[in-house]
Amino acid sequence: MSSHPPYLWLNGEIVPWESATIHLVDARSLLTVSSVYEGIRGYWNPQHEQLYVFRLPEHMRRFGDSMKVMRMQPAFDKEVLCQGVVELLRRNAPHGDVYIRPVGSFAPEAGNVTGDVDPKHLEVMIYANERPSSLSQDRQMNVAVSSWTRISDNSMPPRVKSNANYLSSRLVAAQALSDGYDGAIILNADGTVAEGPWACVFIVRDGVVITPSVTSNILESITRRTVIQLAQEALGACVEQRAVARTELYVADEMFFCGTGAEVTPIVSVDRFKVGSGEVGPMTRRLRGLYYDIVRGMEPDYTNWLTPVYT
Ligand code: PMP
Repeated sequence: MSSHPPYLWLNGEIVPWESATIHLVDARSLLTVSSVYEGIRGYWNPQHEQLYVFRLPEHMRRFGDSMKVMRMQPAFDKEVLCQGVVELLRRNAPHGDVYIRPVGSFAPEAGNVTGDVDPKHLEVMIYANERPSSLSQDRQMNVAVSSWTRISDNSMPPRVKSNANYLSSRLVAAQALSDGYDGAIILNADGTVAEGPWACVFIVRDGVVITPSVTSNILESITRRTVIQLAQEALGACVEQRAVARTELYVADEMFFCGTGAEVTPIVSVDRFKVGSGEVGPMTRRLRGLYYDIVRGMEPDYTNWLTPVYT
């Protein structure tokens, strides 16, 4: 694929890139708040000559859930959207890792996009471009606890992957980078840990893997769910999903972000406190290695999480 893919999926059809234009002046859903999206990765395995999409049905389920809460009545069911991703990728035929972005938003005909619930006005677009995984690089992050408070379920539900929610992520990430950190962790109004701007957070204390619960104002992350299952099932670790206090971050032995984009990224300091020894810890290393093998189809026990693209 070149810098942009030749095709994308728009309302059930595969259309050439050039014909899928948006007139910004009239794109009220883009200019305001009424769109939801997903971020999905596909991993290329050169030995298998295969592209594997990671946990595609789970992402499309969440896409539907986001639309439901937004009172967007989905025009396409989950199976059609999953098939749309596969057809689009076959058509663009990438031989490398990809990032797939389905977007649901209101068409320009929608009257008042802040309150429109007419399913005829919903547009769904799927876009996929090449984006290499960072799993083979030895990435580590130094983070801060953000001074911004996390958005909450009764005002801007973080469970909904709505573009508007990312104003919070933008504020947090921009502040952290301006202050010389690689990222940040956001606290809830009650002072407990929520997540990062683009990823969920895990800590390890005395061998126990701990992460904020799904009622902690987090996005219900598919990678988080994956990591929990792997830690329990493959590594035999005890996992706790519960409220996490700020100072638990300071005394943790290990810490990492996880997410589709972040994959499994070790955090080696928080607020300039070293996490453990300041090196990537053994649990993080093992989870990261396992994740690497699974997403590229090299772990037979977990191939049911993969959708192969090519026949
Ligand atoms: N939290 C936020 C705020 C995110 O944007 C993401 C990335 N989608 C995640 C968590 C991780 O979610 P997932 O593992 O489903 O990509």
